[in-house]
Amino acid sequence: MKAFWNLVQAAHDPQFFLQRGVVKRNFEVPARAEVLLAGCRELGLEIVAPPPADRAALLAVHPADYLDFLRDGPAEWAAMDWQGPELVANIHPAPEMLANGARRSATVIGKLGWYTADTSCPVAAETWPAAQAAAAGALAAADEAAVGRHAYALARPPGHHAYPARAGGHCYLNNTALAAERLRTRGAARVGVLDLDAHHGNGTQGIFWTRDDVLFVSVHGDPNSYYPWYVGHPGERGAGAGAGWNLNLPLAQGTGDAGWLRAVGAGIGAIRRAGVDALVVSLGFDASIDEPLSFLAVSADGFARAGEAVRGLGVPVAVVQEGGYNLDVIGGLLVRFLGALGDGV
Ligand SMILES: [Zn+2]
Repeated sequence: MKAFWNLVQAAHDPQFFLQRGVVKRNFEVPARAEVLLAGCRELGLEIVAPPPADRAALLAVHPADYLDFLRDGPAEWAAMDWQGPELVANIHPAPEMLANGARRSATVIGKLGWYTADTSCPVAAETWPAAQAAAAGALAAADEAAVGRHAYALARPPGHHAYPARAGGHCYLNNTALAAERLRTRGAARVGVLDLDAHHGNGTQGIFWTRDDVLFVSVHGDPNSYYPWYVGHPGERGAGAGAGWNLNLPLAQGTGDAGWLRAVGAGIGAIRRAGVDALVVSLGFDASIDEPLSFLAVSADGFARAGEAVRGLGVPVAVVQEGGYNLDVIGGLLVRFLGALGDGV
């Protein structure tokens, strides 16, 4: 199996994080990639730098003005007469403003609030090259899956909270959505997305909300008491042509292997019934019992059994890294999941 990673991704080193009114060091750190790479080496994966993501592939999910903001925002920020080291928004357009015809401001501060959902996605000059490289890895993993081989994208920064034109929750470009779109263009009539991160994949849900060619399934902590707080509920089933093509399986705090694997099995059952030709797995490890501030309590054996269950689908899989922040365990969890998944169908 190939693992896609580009060293430029390590330069993205966000600092700002706001939690319960306390400014902290951001925990989406470059060291995450080092331990995940160690896991790839332990498995004997071929670690490959992906070809650059072409703009047309990014435009399949993200509009040009948003891509330009990620690229150009840091220089506009630096040109102000004083500023912090990273772009962090202090205002977002409220729904009431949007209902009254709110428009994007031409200033970097106004654009920043427009294009971000929260304070967990600080932007710096290193962000855009890293996000592009992470997206390139997801596209390359999809290209592998398109020819029947499982592949892994060490996507950092992660992607599943990113909407077409909005960063959030450590995510800037939606790597998983880009991979699903690539699989569609490479001939898959239907694509499944299985999101195993502990947080609901709200960005991916939003991107495919009205689509009947991509089935989105997410197993996550109950959003009533966990990020992203407002969406991820069972009643969100998609709209229009996409009605019935969105499946949320939220779990109560403290849910362990039995409950988590039951939900994963239900999600895989829905994916099987949809008759997909390929699958993208949004693989987060923050459902681990060892995660700091853990909400769910999944063991290493649980992740291995999830990998086996995905293997049982018998379709090619592009695995895209999402969250997971305990540097002591995420490398080992990657070994367990990918080891159980195997090389290909
Ligand atoms: Zn997460």
